[in-house]
Amino acid sequence: MSDCIFCKIILGEIPSYKIYEDDFVLAFLDIAPVNYGHTLVVPKKHVANYEEIEKNDLEKLFNAVKKIGYALKIGLAIPGYNTCVNNDPVAGQIIPHMHVHIIPRNEKDGLALWPQGSYGDGEASETQAKIRNKIE
Ligand code: 5GP
Ligand code: ZN
Repeated sequence: MSDCIFCKIILGEIPSYKIYEDDFVLAFLDIAPVNYGHTLVVPKKHVANYEEIEKNDLEKLFNAVKKIGYALKIGLAIPGYNTCVNNDPVAGQIIPHMHVHIIPRNEKDGLALWPQGSYGDGEASETQAKIRNKIE
């Protein structure tokens, strides 16, 4: 896609600090890291989100995530990391080219996860019913 920043990074038209590359994926440092080593793993083929990526390609993407996560653990001596895909703008996706964030974590980095709520009477089963029969 000609106006996509990540396609431009893949084509080498915008510089990046590359971490890993194979025929299918490119991984590079996020320009605005949550923690040092924050890495983005992107399929080389432009797809917007989970709905557009093919199953086989998804497998390749997450195999690369696993490989890179391990390298971050060893290379940065971190005890763990978060992986995250912001799927669609409402979920915080700014760049419309699917990517997996790998965010290195340290014991005292002060990052909070999401606040959690609870279901009212009957709401969990109602929600369950709406989703379960849509699984393909
Ligand atoms: P999103 O919110 O779409 O899930 O995340 C997009 C990420 O891309 C952000 O964390 C942002 O810092 C990163 N980003 C945006 N533009 C560039 C860029 O030109 N180069 C790099 N390396 N990262 C970028
Ligand atoms: Zn793209």
